[in-house]
Amino acid sequence: MFTIGCHLSSSKGYLNMAKTAVSIGANTFQFFTRNPRGAKAKAIDENDIKQFHEYCGEHGITTILAHAPYTLNPCSADESVREFALNTMTDDLERMEYTPGQLYNFHPGSHVKQGTERGIELIAEHLNKVLRPEMTTTVLLETMAGKGSEIGRRFQELREIIDRCELSSKLGVCLDTCHVHDGGYDIVDDLDGVLTEFDNIIGLESLKAVHINDSKNPIGAHKDRHEKIGDGFIGKEAFGRIINHPALRDLPFYLETPNELEGYAREIEMLKGWRIDQV
Ligand code: FE
Ligand code: FE
Ligand code: ZN
Repeated sequence: MFTIGCHLSSSKGYLNMAKTAVSIGANTFQFFTRNPRGAKAKAIDENDIKQFHEYCGEHGITTILAHAPYTLNPCSADESVREFALNTMTDDLERMEYTPGQLYNFHPGSHVKQGTERGIELIAEHLNKVLRPEMTTTVLLETMAGKGSEIGRRFQELREIIDRCELSSKLGVCLDTCHVHDGGYDIVDDLDGVLTEFDNIIGLESLKAVHINDSKNPIGAHKDRHEKIGDGFIGKEAFGRIINHPALRDLPFYLETPNELEGYAREIEMLKGWRIDQV
């Protein structure tokens, strides 16, 4: 099955997101757990959650991806910033248990002059505080473009974070096509090679989701500016290979392209048209 969706606004609750997803031809969606700036989250409405689960059951939505506020920095040099990341993620992961067994993605963080090693150490320390054995959520580290002092541009950095976590079975990776491309991985001309490298360093069994975005910049630009599918430097042919690759095709795909809902509906339809049925 092709699991495809996009980023949606969570302001009207879970049922609304599921209905919006279905209305644009999606069977999954991504959403921010709270305002991306990291403000206090709205209280969970249990009635909304109940209706959401019923609706998902009727419409074949089995996977959703929550995204942490991108302003969190678990490897900041400033203790109060780290503390904020800790409290926010702890709260998010408690709320995630209303939708058990789902995915929660976050940006590892920026080390800001402390160096990559220290950054990795702080992120692992953070995860060792937020991950709980009883938790049903899988927490995903997103591959980053390497803008500024972002951690997670190289697969090796993610591997080192995972290695330092006691509950590493709760962790996975979300591959963002724009980010890895901007980070210098050639997914256009050597997708096989990049995925083999991912497998050798992290292991493909840890890959749980794909952010499917074209890039406004050439490979290795470290910019992180998303483009509509086919309009950027990655291009249509490469996306045709990405959504059909045996190592990726069964994963959920999430568009984070610069679009309104109609644009997302068109991209989803286009991508469905590029899917090659498996024999
Ligand atoms: Fe992200
Ligand atoms: Fe992303
Ligand atoms: Zn991005």
